[in-house]
Amino acid sequence: MNDLKPSLYDFTQKELTQLVKPSFRAKQIYGWIYHQYAQSFEDMKNIPKAMKEELATKYLLNPLKIVNKEESSDGTIKYLLEMQDGKTMEAVWLKMKDEQYDESGELTQEAKYTICVSTQVGCKVGCTFCLTAKGGFTRDLSAGEIVAQVVTLKRDNNHKHNRKINIVYMGMGEPLDNLENLSKAIKIFKEEEGLAIGGKRQTVSTSGLSNKIDKLGEMDLGVHIAISLHAVDDELRTELIPMNKAHNINSIIEAVKRFPIDTRKRVMFEYLVIKGKNDDQASAKKLVKLLTDIKAKVNLIYFNPYPGTPYDRPSRANMVAFQEYLVKHGLLCTIRDSKGIDISAACGQLKEKTQGEI
Ligand code: SAH
Ligand code: SF4
Repeated sequence: MNDLKPSLYDFTQKELTQLVKPSFRAKQIYGWIYHQYAQSFEDMKNIPKAMKEELATKYLLNPLKIVNKEESSDGTIKYLLEMQDGKTMEAVWLKMKDEQYDESGELTQEAKYTICVSTQVGCKVGCTFCLTAKGGFTRDLSAGEIVAQVVTLKRDNNHKHNRKINIVYMGMGEPLDNLENLSKAIKIFKEEEGLAIGGKRQTVSTSGLSNKIDKLGEMDLGVHIAISLHAVDDELRTELIPMNKAHNINSIIEAVKRFPIDTRKRVMFEYLVIKGKNDDQASAKKLVKLLTDIKAKVNLIYFNPYPGTPYDRPSRANMVAFQEYLVKHGLLCTIRDSKGIDISAACGQLKEKTQGEI
């Protein structure tokens, strides 16, 4: 399984130009894969047959196959995608804003979408509340497998290449544990003649590998980061996220302070709220204190239960009281609306379900 064929989505435009000569052919191919979403080499009508045949011996065009799709009433679509070695992972199409019309029924604003992508099959971090962690770690995704998730979902939803889209690295896996392929994918997404998705439209969510937060910052890719904080003291955080022992809360806060952030922007802190664990006012108070020196915004997430979990979903009253405390003390705070709750919301759940059926 180690000799997977590279796909054309593994390359920056410059790399492709070195692989395919003359350079205008590389440019045409880049257009075929990122603007036309070509599904096969045969689709590339203006590329000579011999060149297509040679490319097909060395590279895969489309590394992903949609094997399951669940659509929710709010427009969320969860995809289960299979890779060339038969392993599967998920990506989610999220409708963030409905389209708008004026009185005459004319479209004034197109709907806005975000794609949630995976970076690994499984995860090494082993969070005790996370379904992905239960299956252990299988392998890193290649840059091309990360990039192809966005192409596959845009294609499946007839979303033109030049329509704006946001990417969140919040699917399966810990993105910073696969930093090399992650950073390459970020660069490929940014390619002007590819999908042209700027750093500002890409958010890397991490469970807090503080040394890797620094490394990502040094790469200066212009991306946002979201920190999965979930707890305000190290004892509870270590229970929830075992590697907190090596990267404690303080080390994460310090790394965030060093991270290059657009001065107009805020760093997102995700706080998974679990009934009776971290949903009390004392935790809210500590959270305010912890984030005093940071331009932060907090996103409260309802814990989403799954069979066998020891944790419970918090009450709405506690969730709102928590939010009110933060807002009263000057923090921006939203409660994540449970997109796709009627399908299988938390990461890893679609995969579990499909495998259970087989
Ligand atoms: N590994 C990265 C990104 C993937 S997880 C990270 O941990 O940030 C993406 C988000 O899903 C995280 O904020 C995580 O806390 C959340 N999540 C995991 N299990 C969940 C569950 N059972 N209910 C709600 N959110 C969950
Ligand atoms: Fe990995 Fe994130 Fe799940 Fe933790 S929450 S096990 S870091 S995917």
